[in-house]
Amino acid sequence: MSIQILPAQLANQIAAGEVVERPASVVKELVENSLDAGADQIDIEIEKGGHKRILIRDNGKGIARDELGLALSRHATSKIGTLDDLECIVSLGFRGEALASVSSVARLILTSRPPNQSEAWQARAEGRDMAVDIQPAAHPVGTTVDVVDLFYNTPARRKFLRTEKTEFQHIDEVLRRIALSRFDVAFSLKHNGKVLRRFPRCNSEDTRLKRVATIAGNEFAQQALVIHSDYQSLKLDGWLLPPQLARAQNDGQYVYVNGRMMRDKLIYHAIRQAFEGLVDEQRYPAFVLFLSLDADQVDVNVHPAKHEVRFHQARLVHDFIYRALDDVLQHNLTQVDQSAER
Ligand code: ADP
Ligand code: MG
Repeated sequence: MSIQILPAQLANQIAAGEVVERPASVVKELVENSLDAGADQIDIEIEKGGHKRILIRDNGKGIARDELGLALSRHATSKIGTLDDLECIVSLGFRGEALASVSSVARLILTSRPPNQSEAWQARAEGRDMAVDIQPAAHPVGTTVDVVDLFYNTPARRKFLRTEKTEFQHIDEVLRRIALSRFDVAFSLKHNGKVLRRFPRCNSEDTRLKRVATIAGNEFAQQALVIHSDYQSLKLDGWLLPPQLARAQNDGQYVYVNGRMMRDKLIYHAIRQAFEGLVDEQRYPAFVLFLSLDADQVDVNVHPAKHEVRFHQARLVHDFIYRALDDVLQHNLTQVDQSAER
């Protein structure tokens, strides 16, 4: 075969292989777009575990009519423009791939209205060359992305979808993780027409704890030790369950770096080290931790799905987290000992 440039749809489908693993990854990308657009109300509607439909509606800043086509194209983003921007990412997205990827493996309709536009417009990109069709529509200020029949044209991917129930659990987990990171945003989640989650905006410590209780459990919200530590530009906030209450399952572990949910090896290593000797084997500590640092101190452009980051000063970050946790855990130990003596 001679060398040829791939049709746009095929190129996007290849990119989709990296970011669109299952319905939950679509939900994650779309909700992150809504957050980047400044929305403070995000509603999610799912049909049949997301196999049939994933719809996300937000009240963010919207997309102008002339930019709808661009929003659906690959390598088109409003979030970065230069290498300097790439080295200092403050948004959740920046690759300009999510909408193009999803619309190459599903039927995607993007409807939007920015505040300065009196009507809404609707766009879809279809066919081998992903030609964009634009129509007038009715929509309040904000954006709706409607994704129907995920993987209808990529049977090999569709085969990997699990049951409706399993896929929905993954979606729910994505929402729980995101909801913990943005107390200032209201979320709702419907499945097959029924509202299953409603997280109102939290504007007090009380309402924040209520959200934590819904997501991480009542025991967690009632018993957790508070973490609040900083060093230079590093900050660690959050909660952790005393080690004596460690769980039989590792479903209570939430880590965020600059507001982005993570499963970072370095951070988990520091956490394990802090808990060493305090938690029985086969038990898992539970924690919700928010690490923040200057955006230019961390590289998020490591993995397409952005699960991993690289810290410029890895050792410093590791030791900072270890020490912050160790302080709280040692303090807790002293208290446990004292109450045992009494
Ligand atoms: P990225 O998020 O990496 O920029 P996406 O493909 O996810 O790439 O989105 C492309 C562009 O479309 C974004 O940069 C943004 O300008 C616009 N966009 C996507 N979703 C929304 C939304 N919900 N509200 C406003 N703008 C959006
Ligand atoms: Mg995005």
